[in-house]
Amino acid sequence: VTEPVRSVVYVNGKYRPSEEATISVFDHGLLYGDGVFDTMFASYGYIFKIDQHLARFARSLRAIRLEIPTPIADLRRAVIDTVARNGLNNAYIKVVATRGISAEPLLDPRGCTPTVIIFARPYLSLADPAKVSTGLHAKVTSIRRVGMQALDPRIKSLNYLNLVLARMEAYAAGCDEALLLDDHGYVCEAPGYNVFLVREGHVVTPAYSILEGITRETVLELSAELDIPSEIRAVSPYELAVADEVFLTSTAGGLVPITRVDGQAVGSGKPGPIFSQLTRAYDALQESGRFGTQITRAAIG
Ligand code: PMP
Repeated sequence: VTEPVRSVVYVNGKYRPSEEATISVFDHGLLYGDGVFDTMFASYGYIFKIDQHLARFARSLRAIRLEIPTPIADLRRAVIDTVARNGLNNAYIKVVATRGISAEPLLDPRGCTPTVIIFARPYLSLADPAKVSTGLHAKVTSIRRVGMQALDPRIKSLNYLNLVLARMEAYAAGCDEALLLDDHGYVCEAPGYNVFLVREGHVVTPAYSILEGITRETVLELSAELDIPSEIRAVSPYELAVADEVFLTSTAGGLVPITRVDGQAVGSGKPGPIFSQLTRAYDALQESGRFGTQITRAAIG
C-alpha cells in the first residue's frame, strides 16, 4: 500500500509537501485518540458550508477543552489556502486538532502543545460509486454506538474505533455497511453517515446519539423546500423493516441508498423516488454555489 500522491499539507501554520508534513510519534492524537476533526468537501470550485463545518469543529474543540492557538477565522483562510495550493476544485478536506505533545507521552492532557493539520485530497467518497447506483446492503450490528454517557457522538473526536469495529462486523457478514443502534436500541447512525428513512412520504431521521451532520441538516432543508414532510425523532429497528426507503448522508459521499437491511429488501429493493428527488436537489445545490465559498488563489498570502 502506498501513501496518497504528493500534495501540500498544513501543519501548525506551515504548508509542507505531504512527504515532509510530519507530526510526532508521541502525539496524544495517535497515542490516545485525544483530538477532534471535521471533514468538508468542495465541488464545482466551492467549499460547501465551510462556516457550519468550522462552527462544529469549534464546538468539538470546546467540548474536549482543547484550545488551539489559531483563531477559527485564520483556520478558515488556511482551509481555503490548502485547497487552492493543491489546485483542487473537487476536494475532500480534513481539519484535525490533537492534544499534541507533552514532556512525557503519558495519559495527561495538561501542558500539551496542540497539533493542527489541514489536508485536501481529490474528492473521496465513503461508498463505492458502483454500489451507490444500485444501493448498499446494510447490517444492523451487534456493536452499539458509544453512548453520550461515555463520549457524546456530537463530538467529532478521533475515537472512531467503535465505528470501525461495526463496519468490520458488517463486512464479515458480507454486507457493505453497518447500521448502529444506540444503547437504548434505537437506530442512530452508520460509520461516517447519518441515517434517514422514508415512510408514507415522510422523511424520518434519528434525533439522538448522532453527530449533527451537515448533510443531514441540508437534506432536512431541501425536504422543506420540496414540501416533503420531515420528522426528527426516535427510530426503532422495526421502522427499518417497514420503511419504503432507507438512505445515508455524509460529506464524503452525499446521499447513499440502502436497499437491503439484514438480508431483507427495503421497499421495492431499489433506490426510491424520494431518495432520487433529494439527490437531484442536493446535486443542483452544489452546482449553484449556494452555501459555497469560492476557492480563490487570491487567498494565498
Ligand atoms: N456521523 C458520523 C459519526 C460521521 O463521522 C459523519 C461524517 N462526518 C456523519 C455522521 C455525517 O456528517 P456530515 O454530513 O457532516 O459529513
